[in-house]
Amino acid sequence: MTMQNEGTREIAEEIEARTKANPDFARKLGDFGFIELEDTWGDETTILNTARVSTSNRRLRSVEDLTEKDRTLLFHLLSQHHGTPFETVYFRFRFIAPIFVLRQWVKHRISTWNEFSMRYRKPISAFYVPDREARTVHRFEVVSAEQTERYAALMERIFEFYEAEYRISCQRIDEAVEKGLIPEGKTDPAARNPYRARAREILRSAIPVSAYSDVYWTVNFRSLMNFFDLRTKENAQYEIREYALTAFDLFAKKFPLLSDLYKKAGQIHS
Ligand SMILES: Cc1cc2nc3c(=O)[nH]c(=O)nc-3n(C[C@H](O)[C@H](O)[C@H](O)COP(=O)(O)OP(=O)(O)OC[C@H]3O[C@@H](n4cnc5c(N)ncnc54)[C@H](O)[C@@H]3O)c2cc1C
Repeated sequence: MTMQNEGTREIAEEIEARTKANPDFARKLGDFGFIELEDTWGDETTILNTARVSTSNRRLRSVEDLTEKDRTLLFHLLSQHHGTPFETVYFRFRFIAPIFVLRQWVKHRISTWNEFSMRYRKPISAFYVPDREARTVHRFEVVSAEQTERYAALMERIFEFYEAEYRISCQRIDEAVEKGLIPEGKTDPAARNPYRARAREILRSAIPVSAYSDVYWTVNFRSLMNFFDLRTKENAQYEIREYALTAFDLFAKKFPLLSDLYKKAGQIHS
């Protein structure tokens, strides 16, 4: 990947910095992909305490206090798909993934999304390039290295097209302002220039689904389990499966007991 705009270089630097600062909970995927488990709320005790609200006054304050009986109850709740206690634990992931992966991920409606928008900034000028493993089915390369090179060259040209056309629009706007044809777009420094903003809105239509986007994903554990279940299966597309398996690893590092019981309940497909 040769050409990257300034915003993209900043994101690349941040990926490096986050991976170093938070090595247990941040991972790179391929050329530009990234996922980090940034924050969590609640733990095994939250699940058990909320599950026991109508059956017992026993309340756990720390995971260290868990007895064998508590572990058995947790396993029972997991394997019997008890819903609401698992809705009390929350996770916030940040991930940078190709738009086609995001389109599958966003179908998981029971979660909160905050996504990078090309209306406000130029696109992230990095695109997904499948490696050999991604291009191989049953040891047969369905898209060759040569084809991948042609694909990458086309993607490069699209991003060059965007940069060139955006530059032309900005020049047109600046000249029109100088000639007094249109007012200074930006009176308040915090506001967007409406002319440049409209140019970005139009030109983003040229950006392919292989381009990367940046997302904060906040999700409760019940919905996260559903995501793991559906997106780690063999029939999920290779790329989202890679993200789902990595997300599961990060979750497992943070919650070893919960993830062990979850695996024992047979709900992860690795
Ligand atoms: C292999 C695979 C192939 C797929 N192919 C396609 C495809 O071709 N086209 C496509 O559009 N999608 C496709 N999907 C997406 C799929 O249909 C789901 O939208 C996605 O997996 C999210 O699952 P979900 O609805 O369970 O998750 P969420 O939206 O997070 O919902 C979680 C749960 O909440 C409940 N729920 C949420 N909304 C409603 C509602 N409106 N009514 C009732 N209950 C609700 C359900 O119990 C649901 O399981 C595919 C998914 C997979 C895994």
